[in-house]
Amino acid sequence: MSQYKIDAEVVLRLAAGRWDEILSNLAPALKRAIEVAPRHCECPIHGGSDGFRFFRDFKKTGQCICNTCGAFDGLHILMKVNGWNFFTALKAVSDYLNAPEGIDPASQIESMDGKVLFVGTSTLRSGNQCFCVKLRLENGQTKNCWGNDLKRACTEAGIQIDDNARISRLGTKSYTYKGKEYKKVLWAAQKTASDVELAEQARISEEETARRESSITAKWEKAAVIKPSSLVQAPLSTYLKSRGIYPDSPEILHNCRFLANEPYFDDEGKLIGRFPCMVCAVRNAAGELVTLHRTYLTSEGQKIGFGPAKKLMPVPTGRSINGAAIRFGSIGRDGILCLAEGMETALSVQKATGYPCMACVSAQGLANASVPAGTKVVFIFADNDHSETGQRAALRLREKLLSESIPAVVFLPGNDVLTVSDKGTDWNDVLRQYGDKGFPFYRGSYALTASSAA
Ligand SMILES: [Zn+2]
Repeated sequence: MSQYKIDAEVVLRLAAGRWDEILSNLAPALKRAIEVAPRHCECPIHGGSDGFRFFRDFKKTGQCICNTCGAFDGLHILMKVNGWNFFTALKAVSDYLNAPEGIDPASQIESMDGKVLFVGTSTLRSGNQCFCVKLRLENGQTKNCWGNDLKRACTEAGIQIDDNARISRLGTKSYTYKGKEYKKVLWAAQKTASDVELAEQARISEEETARRESSITAKWEKAAVIKPSSLVQAPLSTYLKSRGIYPDSPEILHNCRFLANEPYFDDEGKLIGRFPCMVCAVRNAAGELVTLHRTYLTSEGQKIGFGPAKKLMPVPTGRSINGAAIRFGSIGRDGILCLAEGMETALSVQKATGYPCMACVSAQGLANASVPAGTKVVFIFADNDHSETGQRAALRLREKLLSESIPAVVFLPGNDVLTVSDKGTDWNDVLRQYGDKGFPFYRGSYALTASSAA
């Protein structure tokens, strides 16, 4: 193995937390996307209007995604945008970070985050002088790092007493001096957020959490309970009727409300207009409100014809969207619960079967769904996607439920169902073409019980 190979692990460890500056410097085509992160913008690979975005915490790994081109980490987006191979990208990042070369392959990297209590030359127990950094780690312990190369790393990074810093022992490098082989330890040093910056970040995140929580609660309280006879709510009832999913009983929509003039903002935060809106409570398995799901409608009762017509409000820190869903209907004593991905599919299943159905909002939400207490058996009404995303999510959920000793069955719409989208078929397509008889069981077909289903 060449002594001068670039160690990808060393480079990636050094790059962690710095991908914003690395990508801005090495790939100017990404600058716009970095500026607006985590919002969407034009894809720097294929174009399009707004399919591309960096993740919220992309500084850690460089992660980004395009609806068309796929997902990338920092190195792979560099390769894609600059037309580089893996080695060229790694070399460019390594050079940018001034990463040392020739580290012994067996070396283990060790990083320490803490407050700098001392930096300078100190006396070793042996009596020799050596450069030293004393850190108070996050767990309260103190740690001394010694080394001549550490002086170079700290000087380059401008590390001083009271700074918060990350000190990394990268490993050893072998060298020969007067015919004898020696090893020296190589270090990296980097300033991290100061106490003032950390306090500011914490304050902003607390404010943001409080703001998100109160806007979710306020919107839900402001929204009107569904009334079939309401003229104001006509866009909502027209929309549900056009999809064949207006429920027979209004109680099915207890997690669904109506807003007559909900503002719609684009990715830039610009107000596009105000629209009638169906708003649904997304709740966790314990029934607590996590966030709101909105479907924007025209006054004629169609989904708006631009942007995403469906939006989830940001989830406040401390709440988790994982396992949360929109519930249509309540679980009965038989313990039967149906699960689906989208809201329209869930309402289709509820209408056809008469059983409560939860909409898990996305394929990932379906795969990770948590069911409320009292659930004895689950029927998963999966989407039949050409991409097989929906099918895979359903099978993952089935595995998860079986491991929790909850019997679960997956139903897929047949391939003979005509589709209205190019994505695939779902149970709303079935309902509209065949009615409830197109379902594996339907209201009144026979008395289904948890024991017969299991
Ligand atoms: Zn793209």
